[in-house]
Amino acid sequence: MSEPTWINETLYPGWGQRFAVKKELARVTSDFQEIVVFESEHHGRVLVLDGAIQITEGDEFVYQEMLAHVPLLTHGAARNVLIIGAGDGGVLRRVLEHKGVERAVMVEIDGEVIRLAKEFLPAIAGDAWTHPRAEVIVGDGIDYVRKAPDASFDVIIVDSTDPIGVGDVLFTDEFYENCARILTANGLVVNQCGVPFMQSEELQQTSLRRARFFPRVSAYVAAVPTYVGGFMTLGIAGKGEALAAPVPVAVIAARAEEAGIGGHTGYWTPEVHAGSFNLPPYIARHLPKPD
Ligand code: SAM
Repeated sequence: MSEPTWINETLYPGWGQRFAVKKELARVTSDFQEIVVFESEHHGRVLVLDGAIQITEGDEFVYQEMLAHVPLLTHGAARNVLIIGAGDGGVLRRVLEHKGVERAVMVEIDGEVIRLAKEFLPAIAGDAWTHPRAEVIVGDGIDYVRKAPDASFDVIIVDSTDPIGVGDVLFTDEFYENCARILTANGLVVNQCGVPFMQSEELQQTSLRRARFFPRVSAYVAAVPTYVGGFMTLGIAGKGEALAAPVPVAVIAARAEEAGIGGHTGYWTPEVHAGSFNLPPYIARHLPKPD
């Protein structure tokens, strides 16, 4: 048998993962990044941006469920949701599963990511692209939050690339200040903060930044197999009381029932939701100390 072709992830110098490629489906250089989609041996189809694995069909459910269901059910009454990045459409799909969400706006900078996801990864978004409650905008997330009216969203979900290149602006003071302004009184913002074992600065820096504009800053974890290096951290910050105390499992379960979530998730459950806020000390020490 001939040796397969491999794609090596280039996220960390000196350490990483590689995938055996069954078939390369697309390789495009957009105005913003190099986009590759390939069929892997073990994880289904894989999306790679500038050499970093973004999504595999095999384990996308872990990340997308935790990025969407945790803030929405921690909030408990979100009607207007803003999603930034997330060009594969998986977060949009999970947000639209919540019956109470009246409007989900998704702002992705790179139309090519959306085009390739529709063509080669259609199962990830399902029918989200044409859903009547969805609004998909190709544009820069920082411009969108600059122009959005005060108190216009209940939850903001930032599913960006890492803070290098086009994603950089989504980790700035200006971005978080506008997020705080456009959120309603009990609003929450969540964003991916990398894998702290490998990228501890990302969690530390973004937590400090969020703390300048939000009275409550926290984080929770998810074990995403292809974001290598241990737990992935999702940073969450709130304006009001939503993060003041842990939400009991029974309350999360009741909210999920009302929202129509549950029974069909692969990772998220009310117990996983509540437990994900219990951080191992090596991660917790990167968060600002509560007053
Ligand atoms: N969930 C995966 C992960 O975290 O690795 C995938 C995220 S990927 C789909 C992130 C998306 O954010 C990319 O498609 C990228 O084009 C988009 N993005 C980066 N900077 C952006 C910006 N300033 N405004 C809007 N979208 C942006």
